[in-house]
Parts: sequence; structure tokens; C-alpha cells
Amino acid sequence: MASDNLERVRHSLGHVMAEAVLSLFPEAKFGIGPDIDTGFYYDFDLPRALTPEDLAEVEKRMRAILKEGRRFQRSEIPRDDALRQFADQPYKLELIHDLPEDEAISTYAQGRFVDLCRGPHVESTKEIDARAFKLLSIAGAYWRGDEKRPMLQRIYGTAWETKDELDAYLKRLEEIERRDHRRLGRELDIFSVDPDIGAGLILWHPNGATIRQEIERFWVDEHRKRGYQLVYTPHIASERIYEISGHLETYADGMYAPMDIDGQPYRAKPMNCPGHVRIFQSHTRSYRDLPIRLAELGTVYRYERSGTLHGMLRVRGFTQDDSHIFCRPDQLVAEVNGVLDLTFFMMDTFGYTYKAYLATRPEKYIGTDEQWEFATEALRQVLEDRGMEYEVDEGGGVFYAPKIDIKLYDAVGRDWQGPTCQVDLNEPERFDITYAGDDGQEHRVIMVHRTVLGSMERFIGGLIEHYAGAFPVWLAPTQVAVIPIADRHVEYAKTVADGLLQASLRVRMDDSGDRMNAKIRKAQLERIPYMLVVGDREAEAGAVAVRLRSGEDLGAMPVAEFEEMALKAVREKAQV
Ligand SMILES: [Zn+2]
Ligand SMILES: [Zn+2]
Repeated sequence: MASDNLERVRHSLGHVMAEAVLSLFPEAKFGIGPDIDTGFYYDFDLPRALTPEDLAEVEKRMRAILKEGRRFQRSEIPRDDALRQFADQPYKLELIHDLPEDEAISTYAQGRFVDLCRGPHVESTKEIDARAFKLLSIAGAYWRGDEKRPMLQRIYGTAWETKDELDAYLKRLEEIERRDHRRLGRELDIFSVDPDIGAGLILWHPNGATIRQEIERFWVDEHRKRGYQLVYTPHIASERIYEISGHLETYADGMYAPMDIDGQPYRAKPMNCPGHVRIFQSHTRSYRDLPIRLAELGTVYRYERSGTLHGMLRVRGFTQDDSHIFCRPDQLVAEVNGVLDLTFFMMDTFGYTYKAYLATRPEKYIGTDEQWEFATEALRQVLEDRGMEYEVDEGGGVFYAPKIDIKLYDAVGRDWQGPTCQVDLNEPERFDITYAGDDGQEHRVIMVHRTVLGSMERFIGGLIEHYAGAFPVWLAPTQVAVIPIADRHVEYAKTVADGLLQASLRVRMDDSGDRMNAKIRKAQLERIPYMLVVGDREAEAGAVAVRLRSGEDLGAMPVAEFEEMALKAVREKAQV
């Protein structure tokens, strides 16, 4: 959280930037310019598109204004005066019209430049360290976020108390940019999005598919070990099922338009739950059959506005690692515990740290208070019994379920929305899901929804950034590059590569005409964990010279010894 002072500094810089832009473009119309988490922005309607050179010029003019030591002066003026004062500023006029009629309008002036503003501001531009801010970028932004209104040009700036803080922030931005999964996804040939296929729909290239298959295999193994049964359900389903589930009523905006099949409306599947419920209901279930844990890598389609789509992180079609647990009330605590065991085991494997949140009953909810109490207490008890630190997210549950949310922290300390575990109080009622109790009566089943990874798209997009593209050996699309020093070593290199391939390692042999150093450089750029250089000495000794992508040189070792080392790293899913 920024201090109050820093917030004032940032917001004041917004005004100074507006003045600078208006001095550069006297015909500019300006929108709004608040302070934000790391700085400030301002929206402008300008006669032409801004260039990076413009930003430099605006920054220069801002520094000149700061040097003048202008005072920020607040005035309260009658509405009519305000309308006159901003007569040639249509966006400001619109804002004034939206303010309550019976209130005076407040403005802030720094010298001749006046802006409509509630404040607060610093006293004088002297309080702002001119070395501790920087203009960062230009982006398009609809006036008032409305796609039907004009698109303005937004200038983002960042500002800090000191130059050191600014430098640290810029360094962090650079690091985040270096890790951007869209750029790495292209460079490492992991995925693409094709405009002719459609926005928000991911094409998994062979490298991406390899990463995904390894994760899915791990996921399947861990679920089988823990008593889950894997299922598949169709990608489309009759609207009938979404009437029963209530999705048509509460989730229609997230669903795609119906398609006609034999006169019946069908929908692309937005959730996997209904299919799993019907599998559960395909038999009469007794108390002895429970719990039943159905799991699916289930692909769903949900509408997201085009402006919100973002690489693999926000998409329109994705595969959830979904599961629904059907259990008796007396089994709930153990089941949730099992979910958390699995969750933390998997997150540890990927090297994430995490924090748990207990999201409780929101204002609008369905179900009885007793049901909520029971479900929420079960979740709380699990967290307490584990001795976990957790935060209560009061009212943060969904309308039909309290839940445990896990927030993940990646290698650069950013947080990601992670696994979630919900106790559903809605669908068991709507679908009338029951089991026969030991008393011979029918009882309502408890249903838990949970995902561990969330979706393959989002999770792997996040992993690319978490690992900065350098996947651990078990996930690396290519694990080993065999690099013959000269043409005469190709034969031996082939033998080595074939042997490792037979041992189930993913190997690439580089027999291009490039020089050795170029080959090593290429393998490093591809983030291949092991590079095996082979020349005369290695061929003679049945050895390989091992280099890691970090540049570390492990020296020569027998092929068998390398194979054992690599397979061990794969087996242990080592973070190397
Ligand atoms: Zn202001
Ligand atoms: Zn579900």
C-alpha cells in the first residue's frame, strides 16, 4: 500500500502530465487521471497517435513544471462557473453534469493549469522528486470504459518516493516483461492464437503439448492414487441440463448461443458438473458406495469479452482439471483434507508458495443457514486441524457455496488465483442427488467441486512465467541436446541420442553445420536443461561432456552415468 503522501504525489503528477500534454497539443481534450497502485495515468483525446518520442517530450516538460515549484490551489466554484471554465472540454463537461446539482464544484490549479478534481494534492510541486517518476506506456482506453464511446489515449506513469524505489520497480517490470508468457510462448514455440481460428482459443504446439501431457500424466497418476475415478463428458449438451442445473438462469452471459440439433437447443459446455452428476445418478448409490470422486480434464467454453483476453491466462475455451466428490456429511472433513493434501503436494512440486482463504457466506445466498454453518465449519475445521495460517474472506463465497481459495505466489512474488474447493449447497438440491442411508431412507448427498490447477491453459501460461521458460527437466519439451563438435562425431552422437531416446528422454541431436558454440547458444536459448558435447575424446571413452543451461560445466562422464542422473531428475521432478 502506498502512503497517503505517495498517493498525493502520484495524483499530482497526473495533473502535471495533463498540463504538459496540453502545452504540446493545445487542442487536446482530456478525460480523467487518477493515481493507481504504482503510479498514475491520464486519458487524452488527441489529434494524432502518440509516439514514444512524445512521451520523452512530455516527461521533459513535466520536469520543467516541477522545477517551477508551483503551488496546488483548491477552489470551490459554482456549477455555472465550472461549466464556463471547461466549456471547450467535453469530457469534463460530462463529468460536471454527473455531479450532484446542489454541490459546489472543486478544482485544483497549479499555476495557470486548472483541473476538475476532488483532490487531495501535494502543497507544491517542490514536494515531488523529479527523478523518482517515469512515463511508461501508451494504451487505448474507452471513455468511461464503454466500448461505444470514443477511444482515448492513456499515458501510464510510475512514481515513487525515491529514485532507488523507482529503479527497483523498473527492474521488476523488466523481469516481468522478460517472463511474459506470450513472448516466451512464441520464442519457445509453445502455443499460438490464430485470428482465423478465433480469439481466446489456444493452439498447443508440439512443445506446449509435451508440457501439458507431462502435467496431465502427473495429474492422472496422483488422482488414481487418491481414489479418484476418471471420466469424460461431451463438449456440448442439451439446454435441458442447464435448465436443471440453473446455469441458464444464473450464468447465461458466460455461455455461447444455442445451436440447433434436431430442433433442440444445445450449448457448448460451460461447466463439467452436470455431466458428473448424471454419471453419479446413473446408479442407485448406497451409503457404502460413498465417497465417489469423479475427475475429468474437462474442456469448457465460456464467453469472455475480447478486451479481457490475455494470452493463455484469459481465454474462451479451456480444459479444467475438474473433480466432483459426492460424499456423506460425516465424510466431508476427511474429503476436504484429502483435497488439500493433493493440492499442496502438487503446488510444492511446481515450486509455488501459497496462502489459504476461507470464503464465507455472501449477502445473497441460497440454502439454509444451517447448511451454510455446517459446510463453512467443515472447511474451517480442516484449516484449523492442519494448523494452517489462513485468512477469512468474509462474504467472499459464491451464492451457492462456501469455499477454500488458495492464492499462489510465483518466483517473482506475484500472486495468482490458484486451487479452489467448494462445498455446493445448490446442485444436490436442483438435481435431487441422493444416496440410500443405512436407515433405508434417501439422503441428500454432499457435493464438493474442486480444481487443483484451475485450467491447463491458465496454469501452464502461469508456469511459463514462473519458470521464465526454463522448465524443470521433467517438463522441458526437449530435455537433452546432443552436440557433435565436428562432422566426424555425428555417428557417435547419433548412438548417444538413440540410447537416451530409448530410455524415454526427450532428445534432440544437432547435426547442423553450425559451429559448436552456436549450437550451445541455440540450445541455451531453447532452455534445454542438458547439453551433451561429444568430440574425439568422448567418442573414444563412450562418454559425454555435460553442460547445464545455466552455463555450468559438469565435465565428461560415461553415457550411462548421465542417463541415470537425468532420469533421476525426471523421477524426482527436481527443480533444476
Ligand atoms: Zn486531482
Ligand atoms: Zn463443478
